[in-house]
Amino acid sequence: MTEAPPIPFLDLKAQQARIAVDLRKRLDAVLAHCQFILGPEVVELEQRLAAFCGAAHCVSVSSGTDALQIALMAEGIGAGDAVFLPAFTYTATAEVPLVLGATPVFVDVDPRTFQIDPAHLALRVAETRRSGRLRPRALIGVDLFGQPADWPALRAVAAAEGLFTLDDCAQSFGATLGGVPLGTAADATATSFFPSKPLGGYGDGGALFTESAERAALYRSLRTHGEGTTRYEVLRTGMNGRLDTLQAAVLLSKLTVFAEELQARARIAAAYDAGLAGVVGIPARVPGSTSAWAIYAVLLPDTAARERLQAGLRAAGVPTAIYYPRPLHAQPAYRAAHDGTALPVSEDLATRILALPIHPDLTEADVARICAAVRANV
Ligand SMILES: *Cc1c(COP(=O)(O)O)cnc(C)c1O
Repeated sequence: MTEAPPIPFLDLKAQQARIAVDLRKRLDAVLAHCQFILGPEVVELEQRLAAFCGAAHCVSVSSGTDALQIALMAEGIGAGDAVFLPAFTYTATAEVPLVLGATPVFVDVDPRTFQIDPAHLALRVAETRRSGRLRPRALIGVDLFGQPADWPALRAVAAAEGLFTLDDCAQSFGATLGGVPLGTAADATATSFFPSKPLGGYGDGGALFTESAERAALYRSLRTHGEGTTRYEVLRTGMNGRLDTLQAAVLLSKLTVFAEELQARARIAAAYDAGLAGVVGIPARVPGSTSAWAIYAVLLPDTAARERLQAGLRAAGVPTAIYYPRPLHAQPAYRAAHDGTALPVSEDLATRILALPIHPDLTEADVARICAAVRANV
């Protein structure tokens, strides 16, 4: 009897094979013109990304983290400012305000959709105002695991409180809310092209979207050391935050199959739902949305059940991952910045969430095998 080979958590080789010819053409074009910084592919990519999500402006940058940082720098956010963000997210979301001297104020998430909870946001802003130590300035809403956050509710709170809204869309470019692609849900939207994201490059990369021409111009200046209209006029403190032309070429090639890949991910998520409902807690959908399905995360009753399932799946050649084993307010790096408020939903999710493989090259047979292995180990 032969054992089935392990299923990859992510299969970048299979994806590369599907775009091989176009990718080679794109890379050869860059090697021929040698405009490695802000070459024509960067301009073309920005136009295509803006068109894809219907945003007025796209400014490509060196990573998702730098996109978040540039967006906050453009608002002049720094010492004494409170930046509200979910406790249940990737570290970069909280790292950026701290790097700029601002204070992250952690907000809990919805227990069903895992997205930042607008009611708790309103509470946290009110608390922050009452304590008088920090100025409420900005909200970073995260579209977690591929699904959109509840932007209509978040925008309402932000408008009432005068907060700048930044959408951390690193995991969810390609998702829609109310039939509209993410990219225009907040004052600015930041995404990432890290290789494992739904639209991943072959290295680091990111982009900012905004409807505001003023903000877009600031972002372009900030990503090139705060330059003015000529290269040697320095108007503000910026950074070296550009996207490489070679990455733009890779992403242009990836964009040719992105819509198909989103459909494949949605098919796989639906197959998981059908195979796992009643077996484990399947992810609840944000009403009126489609997901980019960066991550398909299920809930187990407790940590012991999660450990048993993880071990059983490993033995069956099925890799898993935990996003996130600790909420950010409990991380050593952020404990000092946190005001001590309990965030029970984020704390609970961290103990019993588990991500299953999801990528466009998983076959129906792979998904059936994974579902059978899950059923055998709960
Ligand atoms: C990946 C990620 C980022 C950071 O993106 P990089 O391109 O890796 O810098 C920020 N926020 C979230 C939610 C992410 O998942």
